[in-house]
Amino acid sequence: MPDEIEVIVPEEGEVFDVELEEDLLEANRRIAEENKQILERYRVKAIDVMGSVGSGKTMLIERLIELLGSRYRIAVFGGDVTTTIDAERVRRRGAKTLQINTGKECHLDANLVRKALSKIDLNDVDVLFIENVGNLICPAEFPLGTDSRVVVISVTEGPYTPLKHPYIFMESDVAVINKIDLADAMGVDVGELEARIKKISPDTTVVRTSCKTGEGIDRVARALGLL
Ligand code: MG
Ligand code: ZN
Repeated sequence: MPDEIEVIVPEEGEVFDVELEEDLLEANRRIAEENKQILERYRVKAIDVMGSVGSGKTMLIERLIELLGSRYRIAVFGGDVTTTIDAERVRRRGAKTLQINTGKECHLDANLVRKALSKIDLNDVDVLFIENVGNLICPAEFPLGTDSRVVVISVTEGPYTPLKHPYIFMESDVAVINKIDLADAMGVDVGELEARIKKISPDTTVVRTSCKTGEGIDRVARALGLL
């Protein structure tokens, strides 16, 4: 048996500015609550779409617009550190689109979302998708005030994503396993991946999709209460 690998973790008080960070999270939660009230007042159903870079968040949103665009008036906030590449893709699908560039932050926060909410006429919106910055860590800690949260992973990220990033699954109502058309090529057992998510977060609905072929998109919409 090889020796176990030594794991270094920060001791209490060792992380710089711990109290500042707690204040920050608390402030975020308060603004998220305000966002929720604004969205409820205008009867907008908002969905926070989280996941790694390249997992298929934008394409999932494009597919959902394709499926639901005749039923709902859809708006999209695209969160990225920089660029408007994804927002332009989504706009081509006919959704009202706003880009949120975080500068260097690796997640959206409730304050940025509130700013964006003030820039569109919510009377004209039924469903709002908020594409978070590609990241599996801090977006989980920053609720935005949405009705539901979705995490998108893909088989190309390998079989261990839920084990490495359990918290984001616990925070998500729906977990999408995307790119199942590539599962064989990647040697990833989708059933095993799904079981790992269910073990970490039994209440999370898991949906398998291929945004490329369109498989499973209707099930995502149903899981979000949109169909
Ligand atoms: Mg994207
Ligand atoms: Zn971050």
